[in-house]
Amino acid sequence: MNLTISNLNKTYNNGVKALDSVNLTIGPGMFGLLGPNGAGKSSLMRTIATLQTPDSGEITFGDINLLTDKNALRRVLGYLPQEFGVYPNLSAEELLHYFANLKGITSKADRQKIVAEVLQITNLYDVRKKSVSGYSGGMKQRFGIAQMLLNNPKLIIVDEPTAGLDPAERHRFLNVLREIGAQHTVIFSTHIVDDVRELCHELAIMNGGRVLFRGSAQEGESKL
Ligand code: ADP
Ligand code: ADP
Repeated sequence: MNLTISNLNKTYNNGVKALDSVNLTIGPGMFGLLGPNGAGKSSLMRTIATLQTPDSGEITFGDINLLTDKNALRRVLGYLPQEFGVYPNLSAEELLHYFANLKGITSKADRQKIVAEVLQITNLYDVRKKSVSGYSGGMKQRFGIAQMLLNNPKLIIVDEPTAGLDPAERHRFLNVLREIGAQHTVIFSTHIVDDVRELCHELAIMNGGRVLFRGSAQEGESKL
């Protein structure tokens, strides 16, 4: 299914035009949204996640209108915001069981299965008994992905996930995303050109609220 963003505009109260006639069509796989700080990436991600409303424009995923159909949105969307990661003093496994319960997975056997699965995908299975509050930044980011995967979202939005990670952690995180991108539509924003080089088959480059380029990673290589 395609995510289609049509003519999206957003001007904040302070007069900053963060989204300026943004049009994008994004298919399955790993899509990179690249741009410097202030380009409008988070504004776009938050708008897709319906955390903020645009002044005008439409966002659809397949035939679902994401801006109006909240029930469908809940079913299909996984969103990892940029600032994430204050956790109570519980182990990853305990927390994931808790969240799975909240998400309506009421059978204990089903919970055990999905929790083990998301721990494995995110490479946290070995540390599942440790407290998430003691995790490193990269492990917390991967835990965020694990949590998001519990209800099998079809559309995954990850905002600047590698900011602040050291090279080894960044690498581990990108490997997890790569695996997920093989089965989902994943959009991730970054200001790090190499993130996009290593991971994405397609990308858009944003600046000043506008999409300056959208195409294959190969075509985009000359712009990076
Ligand atoms: P990026 O994620 O690419 O760094 P943002 O979407 O965070 O870009 O920001 C785009 C522009 O909008 C910046 O100039 C930023 O200062 C401004 N901005 C972002 N959020 C708000 C807000 N809530 N209120 C006012 N201005 C904002
Ligand atoms: P990978 O297994 O892909 O190399 P990990 O991030 O899982 O990536 O790191 C390897 C292992 O190191 C982890 O499975 C975990 O057991 C251990 N580890 C890494 N950071 C921590 C930490 N902060 N606390 C406890 N164990 C850690």
